[in-house]
Formats: sequence, C-alpha cells, structure tokens
Amino acid sequence: MNRNRARAFAYQALPMRVVMGPGVVAQLPDEIDRAGLERVLVLCSPEQEELGHAVAQLIGDRAAGVHPHARMHVPVESVAEARDRVAELGADGCVTVGGGSAIGLGKAIALEHGLKIIAVPTTYAGSEMTSVWGLTENGRKRTGKDLRVLPVSVLYDPELTLSLPPAVSATSGMNAIAHAVEALYAPDASPVISLMAEDGTRALATTLPAVVADGADVLARAEAQYGAWLCGVCLGATTMSLHHKLCHTLGGTLDLPHADTHTVVLPHALAYNQPSAPEAVAALGRALGGADPAVALWELARKLGAPGSLRELGMKEAAIDRIVELALAAPYANPREVTAEGLTRLLRRAWAGEPPTPLTEPDTTTGVP
Ligand code: NAD
Repeated sequence: MNRNRARAFAYQALPMRVVMGPGVVAQLPDEIDRAGLERVLVLCSPEQEELGHAVAQLIGDRAAGVHPHARMHVPVESVAEARDRVAELGADGCVTVGGGSAIGLGKAIALEHGLKIIAVPTTYAGSEMTSVWGLTENGRKRTGKDLRVLPVSVLYDPELTLSLPPAVSATSGMNAIAHAVEALYAPDASPVISLMAEDGTRALATTLPAVVADGADVLARAEAQYGAWLCGVCLGATTMSLHHKLCHTLGGTLDLPHADTHTVVLPHALAYNQPSAPEAVAALGRALGGADPAVALWELARKLGAPGSLRELGMKEAAIDRIVELALAAPYANPREVTAEGLTRLLRRAWAGEPPTPLTEPDTTTGVP
C-alpha cells in the first residue's frame, strides 16, 4: 500500500545559537551580552590553559577567572572543585574552551546549578551539540539527557583548532563521522538529520587528509569544523546504536582512548549493520564516493595514519568475550540483530586490525544478506 512508503518521522530542533568562521571567537563579548551574563568562568583542560587565558583576555572585565582543570570523562571530584570556584568567584555562567572534556565539565555544572554555557569547541567530538551529560564516580560513568546542559551559544572558530595535533585531528574527525553514520540508521532518524549526516561525512572525509597533511591550513580546518558541527547535530538529535554502545563498553571497561577506539571500531560496526541499512549505505556511498562505505572508512583511517587495531590501543585478545557479554547485556535499537557470534567476529577483526567484512560477502553468522 502507498501509505506504507510515505515518509513518517518526528523531528525536534534543539534551541541553540551557532556562530562559525575564522576569528569568531572575538565575538564572545557579544554572545555573553546576548546570554545576559555578567561574570563568566572560563573552563578548559590543563593542556589548553594558555588558550583559556587568551580567551579570558578577550572577554575582559566579565571574565571571572580561568579554571584549567577539566579532565577526561568528568570525574565528580573535578565538578565539585569547579562548582566551588564558580561560587567563590560569583560567576553566573561558563565559557568552555576545548574538547569534550572541557564541555563535559561545563555541562556537569549546568546540570547542578543551571548556569548557562557558551561553548568554544576546539576538537571535532561534538558534545557541544548535545544535551547528553556524563559523570564518572568510583570508576563508573553515568550519562543522561537534560536540556539544561545545552550551551546557549556555540562559537566555532577554526583558527583555534590549528594547534590540534594531526593524530588527534584524525581520530577526533573519525569520531565525528561515527555520529553521522549511526544517525543515518537510527530508530529516530529524520530527513533533515540524514541530510546533515551525509554532508557532515562528506565534509570530514574529503578534508581530513588535508588537515592531517597541514594542520595550519585554515580552509581545511574550517571545512572539517563545519563537518564536525553537522555530525554533532546528528549525535544530539538521534539515538545511537551498536557502534556507540560498543565503544562506550570498550572505553568504560578497558579504559581505551575515546576517539582512537571510535576510529578502530567504526568500519567494523558499520560493516556489521550495512546489510540491514540500505538507505544509510546509499547516503554514505554518495558522501564517501564508493560502493562499500565501511571499506571506504577503513581506507580513510589508513590514509590518515590512524590506529588500525584494538590490539594497538592496548586491548588483550582475552577481553573480547567479556566485552561481547557486556555489550549484549543491555538491549538497544539496532538495524540488525546483534548476536554473540556476530559481535565476536566483529571484535576479532577490529582487535587484529583486519579490514571490515565486505558488503558483498554473505555473513555466515546470521545468513545476512
Ligand atoms: P578532550 O577534550 O580530552 O580532547 C582531546 C585532546 O585534544 C586532549 O589531549 C586535548 O588536550 C587536546 N586538545 C583540545 N583542543 C586542543 C587544541 N586547540 N590544540 C591542541 N590540543 C587540543 O577529548 P575529545 O576527544 O574532544 O572528547 C572526548 C570526551 O568527550 C569523552 O569523555 C567523551 O565521552 C565526551 N563526549 C561527550 C559527548 C556528549 O554528547 N556528551 C559527545 C562526544 C564526546
């Protein structure tokens, strides 16, 4: 019946302002005005302290101080420390400068105290576009969704990414592509997001080799940041599946590095889902210019000189069974049924650094396609 082939979806835009372009960080004072803030605390990781002070200088009188203590995975102790600093300085908002760690700290404070955040992202991870927060306590990471943690404004200035090392640029960019890939076959996929996912993937895949070859190429950096923004929107608007769940389990259980793990797992997770996600394969084929998007992503990662195996990241082969067990413990939506056998095969390939299963090769695990 024709009715079954008609488009059907729900789409909810997130309330947020985005300003992009070389030099836009100079507009921070205007954004602070617009948000109605009087005194903001600049949050960053220790490695970005210098950048944090440069941003505070730009803000002028309304910078209450710089707090360069953001840490990966947002430990609760770091949140308590930052919250005390906010109270002591009488800050009414935060400006986060840096990657997912800096934004993560800002989100944790916003969650507890409702302080507004203005984000100045300098990696491609995409957290600034989502209402997802994360907190780590006693070695366990809790996550949740709350609109209060969404930045009011995000300033994407490619000039602030020029110092991002080639290796981090490569894996952070692949991390962003992973959001777009899973948005294309998400249970809550929608046409606007799918268009963004396709163009975000195209922008990053075509420009990351230039970024890695010359980190000071502002044009390439700007295009990569544009792609990362689109991919971040995809992450914020949809529910992620197998790939993100697997990376979360690998990162949380084995403490593997976030962006590197995404880079290694993505081609394999996509290869697993491709037979059950023909529309995603078509969109990614257009974006990446090949018949087999999983293989194209694997080749892109090789071209970027990114890590190619979980073994290289320090995972022991013996851990595969435990990861499979944990990844199967909590069910989630995925285009293709996730089986222990299929997951074991996927992880074995990813661990050993083999290319992903080709789309044309029938999968003996479940008989797909
Ligand atoms: P990160 O913030 O730790 O940054 C990665 C590395 O890049 C660090 O070594 C940092 O010092 C460096 N760096 C950042 N900006 C730089 C610059 N301008 N110049 C030079 N070096 C720079 O990590 P990330 O990869 O941006 O984000 C990963 C974290 O974010 C993880 O904890 C992940 O769980 C979280 N995350 C959350 C969401 C969400 O929606 N909540 C989305 C994506 C990622």
